[in-house]
Amino acid sequence: MVNIQTTSDLIGCIICGAKKTIVSDSRPVFKNNMHYTRRKRECVKCNAAYWTKEVIDHPVRPYEYSKVKRHLIKTVRLNTT
Ligand SMILES: [Zn+2]
Repeated sequence: MVNIQTTSDLIGCIICGAKKTIVSDSRPVFKNNMHYTRRKRECVKCNAAYWTKEVIDHPVRPYEYSKVKRHLIKTVRLNTT
């Protein structure tokens, strides 16, 4: 099992566009023969919280995970301020 971690944000805040967000939860999902990563992100500027669903571009061997691109395929807004 590979623990995929990334410190860079794919997008900024979906509400205010701030670049700085915090990943407060991250969990792998395996569905329809694909690996996803769900991350709960919180904006440090407007406190918006939302889930992102990310998928690895090209599934590869685990030791190559650090090199592959990730696509953000879905965001789920949790609340507003
Ligand atoms: Zn924000």
